[in-house]
Amino acid sequence: MDLRIAIVPVGKMDPLEVEAAAVRIAKILNKPVTVRQPTPVPKAGDDPARGQHVAGPFLAELRGQLARLPVAKIMGAAPPPEPAAAEATLFVTDVDLYKPQTDGVFGDIDAAAHVAVLSVRRLREAFYKRKVDPVKARARLVKLALYAIGRARGLPDCKERACALFTTSSLADIDMKPEKYCASCWRRMTTGAYRL
Ligand SMILES: [Zn+2]
Repeated sequence: MDLRIAIVPVGKMDPLEVEAAAVRIAKILNKPVTVRQPTPVPKAGDDPARGQHVAGPFLAELRGQLARLPVAKIMGAAPPPEPAAAEATLFVTDVDLYKPQTDGVFGDIDAAAHVAVLSVRRLREAFYKRKVDPVKARARLVKLALYAIGRARGLPDCKERACALFTTSSLADIDMKPEKYCASCWRRMTTGAYRL
């Protein structure tokens, strides 16, 4: 099983914050995780009136740039030979995202294209006017990333609450989940049983 994961910081997202999450994800998956050079916030989906971006077009434009984004660092294990197509690419941004009929979302996934965008905005305590907690924010990002990686590899949502692939609709759902997959999802991830 060869699971290539790439993470791309978008806009003002702190690369160190992304790298810290990448180290954790590499450890959990026991696979190298490539961190690419940061890329600017795309124009697509920009909604200045709301101070947010629409997640779908935002992700689509980022996906189009993917081939041009150089590798910055590889966290964990041996580096994969380059160029290598990622099986799951996560864009991580600090701009706030929404989808039609929502106030805001944690991210968006294009499973068929094996890409996802995650926003840390609503993972930060500061968003809820609570005391800043970087450790909590990072754990949330890691869990969201595990969810997105699973979905980008074609796995469905999991009914097991103690699984990173359990449906994530609220911050409480994220906080409740562990930073790992349940045994059955892990088996599917590692055997590629659900690979598209
Ligand atoms: Zn599961």
